[in-house]
Amino acid sequence: MNDVIIVGGGPAGSVIGSYLSMAGINNLILESAIHPRPHVGESMVTATTRVFKDIGFLETMEREGFIRKYGAAWHPPARRGEFDIEFGEYPQEGIEQDYTYHVDRSKFDLLLLKHAERLGSKVIQGVHVKEVLFENGYARGVRATMAGQEVDLPCRLVVDASGRNTLLGRQLRLKKKDPIFNQYAVHAWFEGVDKGTGPAADFIHIYFLPVERGWVWQIPITQEITSIGVVAELEVFKQSNLDLAGYFHRHVNFNPDLAHALRNARRINEFKTEGDYSYSMEKFVGNGFVMIGDAARFVDPIFSSGVSVACYSAKFASEQIRHAFETGDFSEAALKPYEVKLRRGVDIWYEFIRLYYKLLPLFTYFIESKKHRLQVLQLLQGEVYERGEAPVLDAMREYIEVVESSESHLFKDHLTSIPIG
Ligand SMILES: Cc1cc2nc3c(=O)[nH]c(=O)nc-3n(C[C@H](O)[C@H](O)[C@H](O)COP(=O)(O)OP(=O)(O)OC[C@H]3O[C@@H](n4cnc5c(N)ncnc54)[C@H](O)[C@@H]3O)c2cc1C
Repeated sequence: MNDVIIVGGGPAGSVIGSYLSMAGINNLILESAIHPRPHVGESMVTATTRVFKDIGFLETMEREGFIRKYGAAWHPPARRGEFDIEFGEYPQEGIEQDYTYHVDRSKFDLLLLKHAERLGSKVIQGVHVKEVLFENGYARGVRATMAGQEVDLPCRLVVDASGRNTLLGRQLRLKKKDPIFNQYAVHAWFEGVDKGTGPAADFIHIYFLPVERGWVWQIPITQEITSIGVVAELEVFKQSNLDLAGYFHRHVNFNPDLAHALRNARRINEFKTEGDYSYSMEKFVGNGFVMIGDAARFVDPIFSSGVSVACYSAKFASEQIRHAFETGDFSEAALKPYEVKLRRGVDIWYEFIRLYYKLLPLFTYFIESKKHRLQVLQLLQGEVYERGEAPVLDAMREYIEVVESSESHLFKDHLTSIPIG
């Protein structure tokens, strides 16, 4: 019998498989797709490097020649120009590199899955897990479809790493849609994007749009290929009455810098869409199970946090699972500290995202302020697991209150209706 069955071989599943194998806990990863498979989520934050180092995957990242991401740039909605940050400005403990990566997820996810396999995870692809099986109130295995046959596979603990499919969240009805965010993304890959010259050419570029919560990502996948995605409220797409191509081109033309970058670009694959993607499970653990990565919670991707959260949730959950195997206690209460730790981090991302959308110019103002810049960088680089170390969020709140209560503040017209709690 396997000690642990991991449902899903995306970043969260492969990273937890790696950690568990390193701890001598045997584990089986069941993945419904056959890798390589395409996936959205191509730009990372630097904190992820720490996890890659832990599991010995950093050498692979370097060897495979993924594009190095040294910073990020933001472009205002209505005029040319940008403001940049470079990760080198805020050195992170335990991380020697001043860059992270942009990746072709099909390649990255395959490499990470193979890495987990090399470390000892058993991996079976093309297997769809239909449900988690419970016995006496404890998750004790899964029911999966293998080569057209239904099979029951027992284990001592189940990890749900099924991504936005949220297998257990749906099965146990734990999934709660985000009350605020209902974003919709339309994206594709392009050749011939004019990324400019100099170090910022390989940054992630975020272009603000003059529509509710609207922005566009520009992420270099290779030297030739660039991923471009338009994000806005689902309502904006619905009300446009346009098809995907019409909607995409209309919005990229709103931003002068982006229109310039795309003037000679050629699309090389089909448009894809992502919707309904902000949610949280009521709980991330139960008797005999844990949820990690997108299977636990997903927050708006404006700050490229997803893969980092997948990696850290896997790291934290593996520590708790090790403890459970040492004590023989697989109860919800015993696994809870993992949930508390992860929530703390994702709550900080979420708070940051809400403040950002509440008042866009605030973000620019804080990044350009000497006093707050490094703390904003700290968050942008994924160091989010201690709220006490993020006083900049309180400063942002205070600033918003000032703008709200003032009659004539320069930023007054930029306030959105987002509640910030
Ligand atoms: C519009 C958008 C833009 C984004 N941009 C970024 C970005 O720039 N940077 C970033 O870091 N993140 C980004 N993300 C988030 C990122 O895509 C995810 O956070 C990340 O992929 C989570 O990894 P995961 O392993 O939890 O899930 P996934 O990567 O989705 O992996 C889950 C795996 O489980 C498998 N699976 C699902 N159900 C089953 C089942 N029943 N049985 C067996 N296998 C199953 C799936 O095939 C999949 O391979 C973005 C997301 C969206 C929606």
